[in-house]
Amino acid sequence: MSRTIPDKRSFYIDGAWVAPVRAHDLDVIDPSTEEAVAVISLGNQDDTDKAVAAAKAAFPAWSRSEPAERLALVERILSIYQRRADEMAAAISLEMGAPKDMALTSQTAAGTGHIRNFIEAFRHFEFIRPLGPHAPTSMVAFEPVGVVGLITPWNWPMNQVTLKVIPALLGGNCSVLKPSEIAPLSSMLFAEIMDEAGVPSGVFNLVNGDGSGVGTQLSTHPDVDMISFTGSTRAGIAITKAAADTLKKVVLELGGKGANLIFADADADAVARGTRHCFNNSGQSCNAPTRMFVERPVYEEAVATAAEIARNTKVASADQPGRHIGPVVSKTQWDKIQGLIQAGIDEGARLVAGGTGLPEGVNRGYFVRPTVFADVSNDMTIARQEIFGPVLSIIPFDTEEDAVAMANDTIYGLTNYVQTSDGARRNRLARQLRAGMVETNGESLGAGSAFGGVKASGRAREGGIMGLEEFMDSKQISGWSR
Ligand code: NAD
Repeated sequence: MSRTIPDKRSFYIDGAWVAPVRAHDLDVIDPSTEEAVAVISLGNQDDTDKAVAAAKAAFPAWSRSEPAERLALVERILSIYQRRADEMAAAISLEMGAPKDMALTSQTAAGTGHIRNFIEAFRHFEFIRPLGPHAPTSMVAFEPVGVVGLITPWNWPMNQVTLKVIPALLGGNCSVLKPSEIAPLSSMLFAEIMDEAGVPSGVFNLVNGDGSGVGTQLSTHPDVDMISFTGSTRAGIAITKAAADTLKKVVLELGGKGANLIFADADADAVARGTRHCFNNSGQSCNAPTRMFVERPVYEEAVATAAEIARNTKVASADQPGRHIGPVVSKTQWDKIQGLIQAGIDEGARLVAGGTGLPEGVNRGYFVRPTVFADVSNDMTIARQEIFGPVLSIIPFDTEEDAVAMANDTIYGLTNYVQTSDGARRNRLARQLRAGMVETNGESLGAGSAFGGVKASGRAREGGIMGLEEFMDSKQISGWSR
């Protein structure tokens, strides 16, 4: 008997849910079961043009709206987002496989936190600031960029959507969101939330599509002033090239290969914490600490601890309650991860937990065995490529200088981690590591810190005050009358 799956074919354009101009169906697959759970449409140039035109038409009024009006709208969005948190968690869990509890307390909650932090930052935001006491009539004004295209990935869907849609809105921009075609359901629910909150028509639009379609159409569109993108370094390069002819502002949050430097004087939980962090979200986080560098005297102990954590990490379906990890998002990702685990074995790393194939007792779903490699060298494939699965590489080091050199020897530069009880060393390394973020001793970055990297991790700054400024252009003014 055939089962009908929810029809999610429409797009949110100019304040209404509208049918695609031409049918182009794509199934959304539950990675725990490999079954289709909804059908969406992939948009084409006509759909993109309609959404961009709606955003362009809404821009003059929205860009001149009062900050208080924008703030009130985002406060309504927050309260509806919180009320619908269970629905949001269910959508995320279904589309990308985050276990249901984690989908609520981490994935959905990340969105809540970002919206709150933006509200706080916006309350104190100075749209017009004096240049400095040396130039009393010179001012710097912060103004909306215009029509912004927002392209997001599937791994932390609401984290990334809120980091873009909310500051775009608060900054006075009008946006077209193209969420990942693999995980579009949470963004469609977010569009419902925007609608319920009363976002004016055209100020926010959503068109589903893939990278070669709507993604490229937004990147090349003459009426799009800015692209804010989170995703792979490959796509970031493609977008940069595609956007060049129209000289857009392009802001990129890309991949990572986080180094976690563990010294012999680190706290007792450092290795276990780093391993769990690597496996969190089934390893599908751009800031995952996937390269664990351990000082030689505590190296074998660290290998044993990490292997034990891996063996004790339960892998199960996303609809099960509890603190297990779920599947990875797709067959493509599963195949890629298997290939990389095999490359680790072939290149001579010591496999101490996990390995290729499905976890024991599992015969469907894109589940990966939590895997730990020891004796990895920093030039092996598993230490260089972003794996995006629950795979940890452990590398020994003898001196601080060696550890820093190896940590920095990567194309990426997103988040690095340092574990040591020596405060002077923490401060020194925090400055020497080439990364957008350095977290030490398991302490989270403060609320409103900007998330972003350097080098091939992209150079966006998302969240808090810097995240608001990212969605504005600055204007220098002379002769300001007081
Ligand atoms: P992806 O690059 O394949 O896709 C991301 C988004 O870009 C999707 O919406 C996709 O449709 C679109 N896209 C793909 N090719 C495009 C193109 N040529 N032009 C325009 N749009 C295009 O990435 P993914 O597989 O969805 O996500 C995983 C990647 O994202 C990882 O590399 C991860 O590290 C990175 N990531 C980075 C951050 C960060 O903040 N730095 C956060 C999360 C994920």
